[in-house]
Amino acid sequence: MPRGDGRLSHDLNPGEKGPRDACGVFGVWAPGEEVSKLTYFGLYALQHRGQESAGIAVSNGSKILVFKDMGLVSQVFDETSLSSLQGHIAVGHTRYSTTGASVWENAQPTFRATGHGSIALGHNGNLVNAAELAAMVAELPGSRGPRHRVAATNDTDLVTALLAGQTDDDGTALTVEQAAARVLPRVRGAFSFVFMDEQTLYAARDPQGFRPLVLGRLERGWVVASETAALDIVGASFIREVEPGELIAIDESGLRSSRFADAKPRGCVFEYVYLARPDTTIAGRNVYLSRVEMGRRLAREAPAEADLVIATPESGTPAAIGYAEASGIPYGSGLVKNSYVGRTFIQPSQTIRQLGIRLKLNPLREVIRGKRLVVVDDSIVRGNTQRALVRMLREAGAAEVHVRISSPPIKWPCFFGIDFATRAELIANGLSVEQIGTSLGADSLAYISLEGMVEATTIAKPDLCRACFDGEYPVDLPDPQLLGKEVLEDSDRPGATGAGTAAVSDVDGVATLLSGPGAADALRRP
Ligand code: 5GP
Ligand code: MG
Repeated sequence: MPRGDGRLSHDLNPGEKGPRDACGVFGVWAPGEEVSKLTYFGLYALQHRGQESAGIAVSNGSKILVFKDMGLVSQVFDETSLSSLQGHIAVGHTRYSTTGASVWENAQPTFRATGHGSIALGHNGNLVNAAELAAMVAELPGSRGPRHRVAATNDTDLVTALLAGQTDDDGTALTVEQAAARVLPRVRGAFSFVFMDEQTLYAARDPQGFRPLVLGRLERGWVVASETAALDIVGASFIREVEPGELIAIDESGLRSSRFADAKPRGCVFEYVYLARPDTTIAGRNVYLSRVEMGRRLAREAPAEADLVIATPESGTPAAIGYAEASGIPYGSGLVKNSYVGRTFIQPSQTIRQLGIRLKLNPLREVIRGKRLVVVDDSIVRGNTQRALVRMLREAGAAEVHVRISSPPIKWPCFFGIDFATRAELIANGLSVEQIGTSLGADSLAYISLEGMVEATTIAKPDLCRACFDGEYPVDLPDPQLLGKEVLEDSDRPGATGAGTAAVSDVDGVATLLSGPGAADALRRP
């Protein structure tokens, strides 16, 4: 909740990205299967959606156990912890966040006792009415007083508390399924929830379907997951998407579907650009094919005189392939990526920091020397990646560097689950494309058009959320102050970062020092 000391809460946590998540969720109902291992491999397939913390909750029908910790899926779990998680229902989560408020309490699945047992819940997305939900939690019976405070400071735990604490008029506790029918219509923003009580696995998706969520079938059970690629990895066959506005419940009497809201599809276009795995299909459209098509269209919209097309690995690769194909310029590898550089908890020394992205990308000098290059990447956020890359390619002997981006300039913050920079930090906010190109040191810079990107997805434009590109937010946003990411943070709670400069990891996983306010006033600032 906003603090009463008159200061905006984000001032205390500069640079801290807080509980805005682009996460991965996974759930399985499968008697007779090792559900904790299936969930582990499902999360492994979704690791790209969140590298900060990982967790699995398992129910054996009478008790739920939760195991979660900071780190990658492979760092959090081992044979011992997985074999201690015995049961037939599981829910798993990988979380994207940054250091600071990335405390254990905010790791997921979140867990609560209910009037009938307990609930464990994982969330992908970001809610925009957290303040309202916090007020609803405060109204729950027995929730007054500091002892009943919600320990976590994320929007997700509010929903868990609400699902756990509903009662009917005479004070009898509702079941989780009854509570979901009452609570879910009150939740605003982006949510793909996977949750369970002792007997039942649930999946719910917001009416806009901002984030993906799919249903799959095992020989002896059911799976829900953020992406179809996670179904493939555990050998589940794709059945269908969880519909926007739908609640699914799976238990021994089978699968039940109900609606808590009408569907108003506004799937996130950035899933097609960057977030999702290329081998995933969302709303019937494969992500890889979308990216290649974005590259083809980019080549037609923004041709370049060049000798070689190279990708910014890995996420720029499909678009670079499409660009090369449509332009007739050969495609080659100009950069080698170290695939083992994920989010590191080790702060780089000053010397390493200056080397920047070299930790991750190293140029192939023998390929680059003397060439006029087209460098394709999926997006520019702050511009750090392309600026470092252009310099690196020139040092490696490139004759010319033409940067081509397969999404339009990102000008607006995302309130639906992508932890972009604040509006002030977005390089495209306030600079023309030409000025950005100059700032990157490129010989030329061009972005694909909004129409080109949208058409490449084959999804109808009105059915996509493009807010980060065009500022058209599909749901009403509350007062910017109530959107602050530390809206639930308490200045004196343990783990809250003090004023000053906070260490965070940048989008490329290399820790950097950043200062500046959070996104709380992002829409107001120039
Ligand atoms: P920039 O360096 O311009 O700040 O960020 C652009 C780079 O970050 C691109 O190479 C793009 O692939 C990557 N990127 C874009 N969005 C995200 C995101 O939400 N998370 C992470 N980790 N990387 C991103
Ligand atoms: Mg990239």
